[in-house]
Formats: sequence, structure tokens, C-alpha cells
Amino acid sequence: MTIVDRNPSIEDFKAAATAFLDTQFERRSDEAFEWGKGDDRVGVLEEKSPDEEAIELAEAKAFKASEFDAGFGWITGPSEYGGSSLSAAHERAYREISSEYATPNQSMFGIGLGMVAPTILAHAIPEVRERYLRSMHRGDIVGCQLFSEPIAGSDLAGIQTKAVLDGDEWIVTGQKVWTSGAHYSDIGEIITRTDPEKPKHRGLTMLLVDMHAPGVEIRPLRQMTGGASFNEVFFDEVRVPTSHLLGDVDGGWSVALTTLMNERAAIGGGGGGVGTMSMTRFIELAKFLGCADDPITRQRLADIYIRGSVARFTNLRAMAKIRLGQLPGPEMSIAKLALTENMSLISQLLGEMLGPRMIADTGEWGTYAWNEFVLGVPGMRIAGGTDEVMRNIVGERVLGLPKEPKPA
Ligand SMILES: Cc1cc2nc3c(=O)[nH]c(=O)nc-3n(C[C@H](O)[C@H](O)[C@H](O)COP(=O)(O)OP(=O)(O)OC[C@H]3O[C@@H](n4cnc5c(N)ncnc54)[C@H](O)[C@@H]3O)c2cc1C
Repeated sequence: MTIVDRNPSIEDFKAAATAFLDTQFERRSDEAFEWGKGDDRVGVLEEKSPDEEAIELAEAKAFKASEFDAGFGWITGPSEYGGSSLSAAHERAYREISSEYATPNQSMFGIGLGMVAPTILAHAIPEVRERYLRSMHRGDIVGCQLFSEPIAGSDLAGIQTKAVLDGDEWIVTGQKVWTSGAHYSDIGEIITRTDPEKPKHRGLTMLLVDMHAPGVEIRPLRQMTGGASFNEVFFDEVRVPTSHLLGDVDGGWSVALTTLMNERAAIGGGGGGVGTMSMTRFIELAKFLGCADDPITRQRLADIYIRGSVARFTNLRAMAKIRLGQLPGPEMSIAKLALTENMSLISQLLGEMLGPRMIADTGEWGTYAWNEFVLGVPGMRIAGGTDEVMRNIVGERVLGLPKEPKPA
């Protein structure tokens, strides 16, 4: 059944969504959490073996396809590209309902759908939108973000990967780094330098590159948590059709800003530090360790919960602005900063509560497992713009402080 053609009321839509999810998945709830039962992993970054990852990806793709075919895959998207052309209220209703079900992990689609697809919709020509948006939202293909380079992260405009025009193709040569999910991605949004003579924010061009094209080499990077969720990606004269341009030639900086705003929104909306289920886990951990009655610990747990909620609401405010067609502003940076600050508070409290259990794996359920979370938090403080860069944005754009001096 598809709800695409009939512009349903929210109530009918909710009923259809519930019927769709009921046929496939169990409901999950906080009450269902039982200390000592099930998987005790609480990671921030993805820490899977290649086999686990392949299974998860296959499950996620199968779910995404069924969700899309039923009309719930891209609820607010334009129907010409496979969306259901429904309102943001329908979207919110579906998110709320689907979060109650034990659906497969969808995190591998986060960058593609949260950042690359909105950029394609905003900046690609209709043929390219037609070619990729439907299959991205159906989960048939996965996208990644190819921005950072060894010498250009916060100073993104300093990238050196070059693209040279050759007839109706761009030839891309250079190196990217920290590319999350490149190893299972099919397309990548890549920022390149097309005119080295222009000032660095100009002369940049955004392209959509086939990650399976000849000349693309992907090497995993192992992180301190043990996993390898991101990569170095090398481009050796990789050919990209000129139709796969995003925005204007030498106008890549403003395209990058679209993607980065969506990135901060995606990260800032990530549950305020620990998702609802993990907050339950966190409280159960305090009980297990006998700290739940300690007034200081209780106060800190409440503080973390409140800060998490504020981060979420700040993000919702920014998302509402986007839906009204307004440019998201510094709310994105505030939400991202609020999230990572909260994660640091969580890490600190975890360390104090767990003590040696944080670093010694005795096989006890639900204690050492938090080590993965704590080791992942510094990465979150860097990804999508570092805390320091976010503070600069808030200082300059919200508080009106003088701009930071630029190096010569
Ligand atoms: C988990 C994770 C996933 C990532 N995924 C991707 C991805 O998929 N695609 C991608 O392209 N990139 C990705 N990145 C890279 C990320 O975008 C960069 O790491 C980030 O932008 C910072 O750049 P950098 O590492 O070069 O650090 P640098 O920019 O060199 O910063 C080093 C230090 O200097 C500080 N600093 C820099 N500039 C200023 C300033 N103006 N004022 C004050 N302090 C400053 C920084 O805060 C930081 O502490 C990922 C990173 C992480 C951790």
C-alpha cells in the first residue's frame, strides 16, 4: 500500500504507518529495558567488524526499500523524485511512530540522506536529481561526504584536491581523509579546487563522484575505539561527468555551506548525548553501581537529561526554520555544541561512577561497555566542526563579538 496519492489526514497517515510497521517489527519501549539482558554496547561511533557491518547494511537496505515502497521513505520529498509530497507534520508523525519499533539501524544512511541528498536536491540538475534521489531514499545507494583533507579540516577552504575540465568530464586528483562510510558508499559529494588563482573560498567546485569509478582507492583508518568507520580516500585522475556538478563552477563554497548546515542539524539532533534508551541505561547503571540515591549524582543525571532536552529542542527550532524555507542560522552550531558538551559531562560522570570498571573488561554486563561511548566522544567534538569552531560561530554570529583575526 502506498499513501503517496491520497494526501491523508495525519490520523489516517498514522494509522497507515502503524499498520506498515506492525507487520514487520516488535515495539520497543523504555519499560522493555532490563538490566543484564541483550546487547550492552553503547557506542557513539560505529564499531563493527566487516561481517557485522555487511549484515547490518543488508538489513538496513531491505528495510529502507520496504519503507520507501510503502510511501514512508521520503515523506516530505517532491513526488517527481520519489517523495510523498506530504507535510512536515506527517514526517514528524512517522518519526515518532517508527521510533517505537525495533527497526534496523539506519545510521549508514545518515550522511547520504541527511547531508548529500538535500544538497543534490538544492544544487543538482534535474537529471541528476532524478538519477540519485529516488535510489538514495530507497536505500539502494549510499552517499558519503568527501570534504576534509590532511591539511584542511576546520579551514575547509584550504583543500587542495583538484578538478580539471577535460571535454565533458572533470578529472579529479587528490586525497580526502576521515571519510565516514566511504567503504560502503556508492557516491560521494566531493569538494575540489578548480581555480587555484582565485582567493581560496572562490575557485572551489562541488561534484558528485562515483565511489566505484576507476582511480578511487579507499583505505580504512582505525580509531582509538577499535573500529574503522572512516577512511582515507585517494583520487587518481578520476573522471566525473560535468552533469554531476553541484551548484556553479567555482561556486562550491556556498554548496558546502548547505551540506555543513545539514550536518550540524543531523549531529545536533542526535538525542542530546545519549538517546532515550541509553538514558534509561545510564540511570539503570547508576542504580546498579549504588549511586542512584546519592544526591549529587541524581542532580548531575537530571542536569544531563535537561541539557539533552534543550539541545534537542534547539535543533527542532532550527529544523522548523528550514521547513519554513528560511536559512538555518547559528542554532545549528548551538545545538551541536550543546550535544557535545553534554556528551563530555556524561563521560565525566561515567568515569566517576565506573572507576576501574571503565578500563578493565571483567565480562560484567553493562559496565565496561560504556568505554566505547567515552572513547567516541572526542570524535564527536571534532566531527562536523570542532567545539572551538562552533564557539567562534556563536561568538561572532550570536553574541556579535569581533571576528577572530585571520592569519596572514
Ligand atoms: C567521527 C568523525 C567523522 C568524520 N567524518 C567526516 C566525513 O565523513 N567527511 C569529511 O569530509 N570529514 C569528516 N570528518 C573530519 C572533520 O570534519 C574534521 O576532523 C574537522 O573538520 C576538523 O578538522 P581537522 O581534523 O583537520 O582539525 P584542525 O582543523 O586541524 O583542528 C585542530 C585543532 O585546532 C582547533 N582550531 C582549528 N581552527 C580553529 C580556529 N579558527 N579557532 C580556534 N580553534 C581552532 C580545532 O578546534 C582543533 O582542536 C570526521 C571527523 C570525525 C572525528
